[in-house]
Amino acid sequence: MRKGDTQEIRRLNRRAILQSLRQAPATRADLARKTGLAKSAVSRLVEELLEEGLLEEGEVRPGELGRPGVLLRLKPQARYALGAELGVEGTVLLAVDWRGEVLWSQEWPHPKEEGVEARLEALKEAVRPRAEGALGLGITLPGVVAGPRLLFAPNLGWRDLDLSLKGFPIPVAFENDAKASALSEVFFHGEENLAYVVLSTGLGVGVVAEGRLLRGTHGAAGEVGHWTGGGRTPCRCGRRGCLETELGLQNLLAHHRALGGEAEDLDTLLALAERGEEAAMKALAHLGEALGRFLANLAVAYDPARVVIGGRAAELFPYLEAPLRAGLRKAAFLPVHQNLPVYPSAYGHLAPAVGGASLFLARFFELGGLWAESPRRNGGPYEEVALGFRHGFGA
Ligand SMILES: [Zn+2]
Repeated sequence: MRKGDTQEIRRLNRRAILQSLRQAPATRADLARKTGLAKSAVSRLVEELLEEGLLEEGEVRPGELGRPGVLLRLKPQARYALGAELGVEGTVLLAVDWRGEVLWSQEWPHPKEEGVEARLEALKEAVRPRAEGALGLGITLPGVVAGPRLLFAPNLGWRDLDLSLKGFPIPVAFENDAKASALSEVFFHGEENLAYVVLSTGLGVGVVAEGRLLRGTHGAAGEVGHWTGGGRTPCRCGRRGCLETELGLQNLLAHHRALGGEAEDLDTLLALAERGEEAAMKALAHLGEALGRFLANLAVAYDPARVVIGGRAAELFPYLEAPLRAGLRKAAFLPVHQNLPVYPSAYGHLAPAVGGASLFLARFFELGGLWAESPRRNGGPYEEVALGFRHGFGA
């Protein structure tokens, strides 16, 4: 066996152990059974992982054959990554540990006309004092991202930008906000077929099919906010009648005003909805039903097992849910689509930034935690990162 092969097997076996411990704490004997590895191999690799500070030992549990075993688990905060969202309304920066816990987060607004350089500069300043020890920084944007290029982000007014900027103290990766959010669901929950709808000012979908993120030829797969229809309302992309002019939350506010409401922003609208204001409830019900029809369309386009609603719409979900489900029931193509599971994002409006961090966390697991030993692979495209839970080679 060549040296490269041994290294590769070690990586795969460490990955199998770490992936198994992500799902539940286990003894060495459990790990041998779950991964199919020899007990001696498990013991050796566990020692390695303990020495590296990645695992910790917990209570002693009686074993099946009378021999007690020590429970092993991933050490909280042993590794973490930073994630950022350059959104239309502001920037979010946070840290997520490798078990999915948000360690801290900060947000700041910015003037609408501020350009990409100024926003990345502000982000750099915020990252610098908090970068030490982080695996990397995943930055998400509401637009079409292809490698280090941003092809088009209509709601930011940015087009064809080179994002491979220097000066960040840690490795940086860029991704579309909906795609990063979808990846985080796959990473944290092992989803295989999922549509992650990000609805704020704009509308985008991150689709995972059979464990793979769909990006398309140019990275534009999932930009469904720019499905054109018969409408005449101008869209920020320069065309007319895009779906996002109907479903985007700016239109929710406009509709509320047309009904006699006076909310200037979503926070106010949400507060009004909490008080049961009639115009707010009507506008939200209208949007919910339209979203239900949209999900019926998504069901025939991608047939996901479930849908997660993220972006600011996640906060509105309690008011959108009933009309959304009614709209979906009415418009569903297959009877099974009538009850398509739909949930708001568990991370709320932080989801895109959490998705950004998960780009590096997923890569760390994929490398079996051999981060420093694989500088070339560390810099490789993260799409190579395997999603879901796989097993290592038997040894
Ligand atoms: Zn458009």
